Amino acid sequence: MPKETKLYEALEVDPNCSDAELKKAYRKLALKFHPDKTGGATSERFQEISHAYDVLSDPSKRQAYDQYGEAGLSGEGGPGMGGLSPEDLFSHFFGGGGGGRGGRPSGPRRGKDVTHGLKVTLEDLYKGKTTKLALQKNVICEKCEGKGGKEGAVKTCATCNGQGYRVMLRQMGPMMQQIQQPCGDCRGEGEIINAKDKCKFCNAKKVTQVRKVLEVHIDRGMKHGRKIVFNGEGDQAPGTIPGDVVIVLDQREHERFRRSDDDLFYNAKIDLVTALAGGKIQIPHLDDRVLVVDILPGEVIKPGELKAVMGQGMPTERHHDFGNLYIQFEIEFPTTNWTDLAHIEQLRTILPPAPPLPALPKGAHVEEVSLTEMDPRQKARAEQGHMGGDDDEEGGHGPGVQCAQQ
Ligand SMILES: [Zn+2]
Ligand SMILES: [Zn+2]
Repeated sequence: MPKETKLYEALEVDPNCSDAELKKAYRKLALKFHPDKTGGATSERFQEISHAYDVLSDPSKRQAYDQYGEAGLSGEGGPGMGGLSPEDLFSHFFGGGGGGRGGRPSGPRRGKDVTHGLKVTLEDLYKGKTTKLALQKNVICEKCEGKGGKEGAVKTCATCNGQGYRVMLRQMGPMMQQIQQPCGDCRGEGEIINAKDKCKFCNAKKVTQVRKVLEVHIDRGMKHGRKIVFNGEGDQAPGTIPGDVVIVLDQREHERFRRSDDDLFYNAKIDLVTALAGGKIQIPHLDDRVLVVDILPGEVIKPGELKAVMGQGMPTERHHDFGNLYIQFEIEFPTTNWTDLAHIEQLRTILPPAPPLPALPKGAHVEEVSLTEMDPRQKARAEQGHMGGDDDEEGGHGPGVQCAQQ
């Protein structure tokens, strides 16, 4: 048992781990905590990982550490000193940079992020869900470790000097134009591998395609458009840091509820008697509950009125509470068949009296007119006119109000 295990802990490995396991652990963590990924200066964690790998990947240093702990390394001057800097170690490990280019170390390129939409229901966002998503991705060929061929068989192309392209001059009328052409000898690769030494496993492509299944955790309360990032799960390529796989939640429209932030909106149709005299409505929620809403007698719900049921909206993602549920009421009035004049006269005695008409202006000419029932065609035309014509500017068409078009 080693004297200290801090460096092993930094790499999240067992003190008895093999070199290969060490390498794998460093690879995973270095990619995760690389400053390019964390969007900032070299983090403490990245330095810690780099230092741990710098020590443990060297058999003599590892032995000294196992025997004497950090004190056994004091000749090296402690973290960050003596060994490679975290950045150098990283590019050394990932094969980027090439070394000695001068100036700021350029480091490895970063691969593209890949974005996938994921359709979810409002129920998924209410209750939370774990879903599996399979995708194809390139990984470094495990047989040749991304070299494309046997050790030493990969040679820089002499024709293009490893650039992969050649600069040619071409006469364009009176002018000479410089054009870049892919190098024919190496087919733009910048390096040449003898056919017999090519890696058979990846066909010298350096990468192979694998199917990767990602487990996407949809937390309660997540919203439409929410991004779930899988660090470094993008395509791998030699000398590059793989990009991320970004899953973007795409909420399907819901048949009952509309969501706004953490609140839910629900349209309830009630009849006139319930609006005036009270009653109950049922709202099936997003889990298996049915809310039974009590409308009190005399509460008098008006058309379009908005009422709240506190705490029955969506769960909030961070804090463990809930938004509100807002119910907008639509009142269904009795149809015109309901015309028992005796009853109607009775209503006059019950309902508050109608306000008196304003006095007519002096000398006004009075003409009595009556209302006409329209047929559906007339009605559609009238509604279109009411909305401001068919080719009119946008807006004005409130949600839920649609012109009948035929
Ligand atoms: Zn290969
Ligand atoms: Zn070439």
